[in-house]
Amino acid sequence: MTQPASPLSKHVAIIGGGPAGLMAAEVLSQAGVRVDLYDGMPSVGRKFLLAGVGGMNITHSEAYPAFLSRYAERAPHIAPLLREFGAEALCEWIHGLGIDTFVGSSGRVFPTDMKAAPLLRAWLKRLRDSGVVIHTRHRWLGWNDDGSLRIARPEGEIAINPDAVLLALGGGSWSRLGSDGRWMPLLEQRGVSLAPMQPSNCGFEVQAWSELMVSKFAGAPLKNIAIGVNDDSPRLGECVITATGIEGSLIYALSAPIREAINRTGSATVHIDLLPGRLVDKIHAALSKPRGSRSMAKHLHSQLGLDGVKAALLRELTPAESFADPLSLAKAIKALPLTLVKARPLDEAISSAGGVLFEAMDEHLMLKPLPGVFCAGEMLDWEAPTGGYLLTACFASGRVAGLGMVQWLRRQG
Ligand SMILES: Cc1cc2nc3c(=O)[nH]c(=O)nc-3n(C[C@H](O)[C@H](O)[C@H](O)COP(=O)(O)OP(=O)(O)OC[C@H]3O[C@@H](n4cnc5c(N)ncnc54)[C@H](O)[C@@H]3O)c2cc1C
Repeated sequence: MTQPASPLSKHVAIIGGGPAGLMAAEVLSQAGVRVDLYDGMPSVGRKFLLAGVGGMNITHSEAYPAFLSRYAERAPHIAPLLREFGAEALCEWIHGLGIDTFVGSSGRVFPTDMKAAPLLRAWLKRLRDSGVVIHTRHRWLGWNDDGSLRIARPEGEIAINPDAVLLALGGGSWSRLGSDGRWMPLLEQRGVSLAPMQPSNCGFEVQAWSELMVSKFAGAPLKNIAIGVNDDSPRLGECVITATGIEGSLIYALSAPIREAINRTGSATVHIDLLPGRLVDKIHAALSKPRGSRSMAKHLHSQLGLDGVKAALLRELTPAESFADPLSLAKAIKALPLTLVKARPLDEAISSAGGVLFEAMDEHLMLKPLPGVFCAGEMLDWEAPTGGYLLTACFASGRVAGLGMVQWLRRQG
């Protein structure tokens, strides 16, 4: 990691106190730059704290090529950020805050107590001790004609004139935590190219479940299944039936190709393998055994262990005739077609795709049309599945933007 040479008598404004903005604040204050950080909410790091509620998965321990591949077509743009501050550097940095980490059985990395709050507390103390001034309830509204920044605060609007600015305004989901995407028209008016915000790591809707699926199985977990999208090999995991469709970790992981298929053709048909551990001919053989006077439900249960929500889904998505034909039924069990027609709303999603195009920034994440204005975090146009990849890229981009600002300020003399 690059270490700055000498203190700089410069002043920067960081807008947005999520992981990306706070990381840039750290880099800049270490370089001796005066940092004022503004956030529209009454406290900073609200989404980071929410991420800690179900267990703060901060990064992933898998090998770098696999890690990088999670950013799909944006991998070439994320690679330089991870080179500066990847999963290992992030873990060391967490340890430096006095927080231990552990690697879970899936390879995901967590703070030892699984929580975000102690980490954020220790970090904010260190930032304040190093001189970073945090102004909460200060909302950035855009630029005045003279180029100063418009900041709304409870006492009224002020104008500020920093030597450089970092926008780390977050994505477009969970707007009640502060990141609401309202910055998009402000940047567009200034000639910054953006991709529209779209839900990522989100649930999807079906045309309509039957009354039985909604009343009896909304909320039911579908465990030990595999789902295939397009021609990709099916992925193992679990998800949850909802009143309107389906959600959960496996669906989130597949959300980008599902969303893109819906965007292209109006719907996406995924194939659910209800028994990923068994081959179709073994299932066929089991179903072909005589069932005597037993019902089909009992036969499925006794021969294959299929019952509850899995059996209900099979009924829901398979034509009645297939139940009289063991081979058709076996094939349906291995590749149950489920048609999804719509992503759940952006505000419900764990993260968002879209935002500032990498092509609109230089390698230090400075906006080409707006010299001295840098961007970082989820507001950039990339997406990744859950697994710690989101936070890692937010931290890394905050670090790269912070270092880029230091260099830029030095060049300004
Ligand atoms: C339920 C949930 C669980 C998650 N779990 C994980 C997980 O386990 N692992 C993982 O890697 N990721 C997880 N994430 C994603 C992760 O939390 C985000 O990707 C990350 O917080 C984004 O960081 P950021 O700094 O870019 O933006 P944010 O954290 O969204 O911060 C942006 C800040 O900018 C402020 N702001 C916005 N507009 C303005 C304005 N005009 N003026 C002033 N301030 C403004 C906001 O108030 C906010 O504080 C989860 C997200 C959710 C919703």
